[in-house]
Amino acid sequence: MNEIDGVDKLLRSTEDRLLELEGEIETARADLATREASLPAETAEHEEKLKDWRTAQRSIDSELESAGKEIRKLEAQIPPRDRAEFIRLLEKKGGLAIVRVINNSCAACHVKIRPAALQILKVGREIVYCDSCKRILYWDTQTS
Ligand SMILES: [Zn+2]
Repeated sequence: MNEIDGVDKLLRSTEDRLLELEGEIETARADLATREASLPAETAEHEEKLKDWRTAQRSIDSELESAGKEIRKLEAQIPPRDRAEFIRLLEKKGGLAIVRVINNSCAACHVKIRPAALQILKVGREIVYCDSCKRILYWDTQTS
């Protein structure tokens, strides 16, 4: 009769396991219902954020586009020789080809600008280079 005892035992433990699993399913169902209930609010919040990002993206894109147009417009006004020189300088000087004059000195290398060069610079009709670092100098009437 040992065999029947064993089968009984197996049957009981299987039933216990079944009850346990049913309990887990019940818990999972309740969890799912809670999540489904909060989903619309979360989705709406997410959509709202996405909308904000898209708006920001659009305004950045349009700013970039108008800046690009402005650059092309200004570039067209630069004589080709000066432009080539500028591009050469940009590459040579690690992107810093034009520097402001601050306290009558080059903002990049801090060497004093000769008074004659300063005069030419203030008139603003010719390109003036720093004697020391050879960058193009820029006279800002607001801050120099
Ligand atoms: Zn310099």
